[in-house]
Formats: sequence, C-alpha cells, structure tokens
Amino acid sequence: MNITLQYFQKTLGYSVQNRPIDGVFFGMEAPKQLDTLFIGAFHGDETISGALMHRFLAALKTGQFALQPIDFHKQPILVVPVLNPDGFAANTRVNANLVDLNRNYPTPDWHEENIGTQYYSGKTAGSEPETRLIMELIETYQPKKIVSVHSPYKVINFDGPGRALADRMASHSGYPVVESIGYPTPGSFGTYAGKLRQIPVITLELPPGFDEPPCEDAAPPESLNQVWKDNQASLESAIHF
Ligand SMILES: [Zn+2]
Repeated sequence: MNITLQYFQKTLGYSVQNRPIDGVFFGMEAPKQLDTLFIGAFHGDETISGALMHRFLAALKTGQFALQPIDFHKQPILVVPVLNPDGFAANTRVNANLVDLNRNYPTPDWHEENIGTQYYSGKTAGSEPETRLIMELIETYQPKKIVSVHSPYKVINFDGPGRALADRMASHSGYPVVESIGYPTPGSFGTYAGKLRQIPVITLELPPGFDEPPCEDAAPPESLNQVWKDNQASLESAIHF
C-alpha cells in the first residue's frame, strides 16, 4: 500500500496563560469528520501521557506502524499531545486557574466542588479555555471515537459505547479494562463525550513515569520506552477499530 503521510500542525487555541495548544491533523487539514481524536496531558503532572503522545506523533509522521499502515485520507485523525500546557509547565494536575479539567465539563452532575483541592471543578461548567477548546473540536469535527490519555493506574477505562474499543486496545497492550475508575467524577470528559454524546471514549490510564508524584493505588512507574512498546499497537488499533 502506498501511503502519503500528510499532516498539518496547527495551534488550536490557547491556555489560561496564553500558551498555544497545538494539534496535528493527519490526512486532512480540515476534515468534515474525524475518525479518532487523541488527547494527552489533560492533567499536567501526568507527564508520561504527553510524552507518549509525542512519541506516537513522531512515529506517525515518519510512517512507522506496529500494525498495518493507516490511510489517513480515509481515516483522518487529530492528536492533541498536551491539552493542559500550563499544568504541564508547572507540573500540576490542574490548569493555571487551579481547575481540574476533567471535572469542568457541562454535564447534569456538574456542580462546584472540591474547592481548594486539585480536583476543583471550576466556578462554572465549561469555565476553562482548555475545556471549551475540546467542546469546540467535538462540535466541529464530530469524532467517531476519542482516546484520552492519563496516568497512573495502568488500566483502560471507557465511557459511553466504548466497551468493544477498550477490549480491542487491551488485546494489544494487555492492560485490564475497567468500566469505572472507582470514584465519582462529576463533570468529567467521559460523561460529557461518552455518556451524553454517545461517542466511544477511552480513558487510557498509563503507568506513571518515574518523574510523576507518588499516588495511592498507582501502578509502579515505567519508562517511556516500555510504555510505548506496550501501547503503540493499542493506539493504532483504536484507529483501525
Ligand atoms: Zn488524569
């Protein structure tokens, strides 16, 4: 198969502190519909998630595939390696307004809560520019499925009609599939895009990188090389699915 690897790097929006939030489109610059949307570093201190997305981008740009090559003209994708660049720079879970971006989505269960903690939901639903950017991307590009990358639990979590996709990815990585992360997450992205909009949403929880803060119930830390080895085919399989 002869594949033309066309990709387009774009600044999609800006963070609270005006850092660019970049994304790379593969296949088309402005697709009518995205096949798959990948998002890394929702939480800035989950550094391995951003690192894995950068590794994924480097492989795709140079046509390195673990599975059969992907024709991005037929299956356009967008990778946003670091959604929370302010948190990534400051090594914090939250964004620069101290909001947990995974509690800030306009869902029926959203309420202002966890004030003063790193799980703060924000003053209003959708208050944060990083949240609104993702809402706009979904509105504009209607992705058929979404993979949001986090750490540190080393599981594959899903929302909405995401079970079969989670199973497919797990067949490549060996990570366990779990339906619930074990605690309530009002205003979460999975509820917004998966449960409400019925888009298959995968929350890929990686093991933590060695630089990540210790956390209860976290998987043991792993190197980026190991995480990439375990997840390259899994990430590609999400597009093939
Ligand atoms: Zn996270």
